[in-house]
Amino acid sequence: MKIGIDVGGTKTEGIILDQNGTEIDRKRINTEKSYDGTISGILSIINHFEEKHGKAESVGMGMPGAISNDTALIKNANSIWLNGKPFKQDLDKILNRNINIENDANCFTLSEAVDGAGKGYQVVFGVIIGTGVGGGISINQKVIRGRNSISGEWGHIVLPGRTEEEKKFVKKCYCGKNGCLETYISGPGFSSAYNLRFNKNYNSHQILEGFLNKEEDSIFALNQYIDHLARGLSVVCNILDPDVIVLGGGMSNIDFIYENINDTLKKYVFTDTLETKVVKNFYGDSSGVRGAAWLS
Ligand SMILES: [Zn+2]
Repeated sequence: MKIGIDVGGTKTEGIILDQNGTEIDRKRINTEKSYDGTISGILSIINHFEEKHGKAESVGMGMPGAISNDTALIKNANSIWLNGKPFKQDLDKILNRNINIENDANCFTLSEAVDGAGKGYQVVFGVIIGTGVGGGISINQKVIRGRNSISGEWGHIVLPGRTEEEKKFVKKCYCGKNGCLETYISGPGFSSAYNLRFNKNYNSHQILEGFLNKEEDSIFALNQYIDHLARGLSVVCNILDPDVIVLGGGMSNIDFIYENINDTLKKYVFTDTLETKVVKNFYGDSSGVRGAAWLS
């Protein structure tokens, strides 16, 4: 049995899987917004599982942010009380075992690579298009973290081939740069571009509703979204050339994306034929916690 924990800003979720990936148990608690509180929440989930089901062979954990290769200190986490803390060392010591910790987008990618939409493929690029834009790389069902713990962070490359017009309808990125993909293809980026262009105040759901009602503005916005997504992914294809790209996060639930993304992507990648497929995730919101369990 393997335990996976997904530490989010508001919820901490645990899962216990058997060798075949079958879910045995699951538990969800509120994340306490302090370092000690977060740790005791994690311990309570592990204790709960092990009292019920016996000792697990491994414990893996996913969380936002990056885990420094050199110091194992946490950085870039939006659960800011974890930043700069020796999270892994402390958990290892308290639990007297080795805990595997990985960025949550990397956990998503691993989950989909092991037994999700990327199953059977060697090189999987996992994409999160939600409130932010993240990504991860899995090769032979192992996470590639990278020297700086930023592999797969494609959300902060500049939208390729950005036109003057596209520079107009976008906000500056929180990272300090202009033109990051995240500001175009995250959920908030999508609605903000739409609102700036059409002088409205819609959220993504309202734009999608408009699309289903065949409103011209929304059809334009969706088609442009797919074009931006494809341009971003073309960079990934030209460098990594993955077998499959698995989309996750709130925006990945838009079915229209899958009708067009493969053909659009083909236009931008440096190849005559594009074998790489862009597909929807299999495990949805569960992929983060399942991927955490698969770490080891
Ligand atoms: Zn940025």
